[in-house]
Amino acid sequence: MPSEQTKANIPPSKIVCVGRNYVAHIEELGNQVAQQMVVFLKPSSAMSEVLLSQHCAESLHFETEICFKVQGGQLAEVAVGLDLTKRDLQAQLKNSGLPWERAKAFDGAALFSEFVVIKQTDIAKLQVSLQLNNKLQQHGNVDLMLYKPDVILAQISEFMTLNDGDIIMTGTPAGVGQIHAGDTFNAQLHLADQLLVEQSWVAQ
Ligand code: ZN
Repeated sequence: MPSEQTKANIPPSKIVCVGRNYVAHIEELGNQVAQQMVVFLKPSSAMSEVLLSQHCAESLHFETEICFKVQGGQLAEVAVGLDLTKRDLQAQLKNSGLPWERAKAFDGAALFSEFVVIKQTDIAKLQVSLQLNNKLQQHGNVDLMLYKPDVILAQISEFMTLNDGDIIMTGTPAGVGQIHAGDTFNAQLHLADQLLVEQSWVAQ
């Protein structure tokens, strides 16, 4: 039997990301509400503890998201995460009808706080926020999601097996923007008004 520590070091087989899950964010990017839930993947090699402001001389944008770790087919643990995007490149790829991986799957494109156990009945009470340079930049909660976590889990599971340790990123509320070197990020998850987990990064 692997120890808990060993298991924690095994990377997920995949990170499944939901796009366009908050109306105010869809509007800020000038996107349409999609007919189906928007799903894309990041490889585990995208995971990093270092927040970059640039990758291959291209600027990066942040999206702060409620993230779940799957265990036994359930949303067993929760974290706050950053989905980093090369927004200009993503726009070019989208306009050309091409896949987004070059804009979403690069090394350093996924950052997470520690994951903490969550009760199924508490998931509806989750709130996410981002303080950027000590000012509130993003705020969202499960109520504002077009696809709630249980629906996300069910819809992904219809076409893709979720292995233990896989991560689901549930989309970003409004307030996304560009990362600048030296920016301080403090991302928090609350359960109603109780702080559940937080993570700080300084952008390099
Ligand atoms: Zn995202």
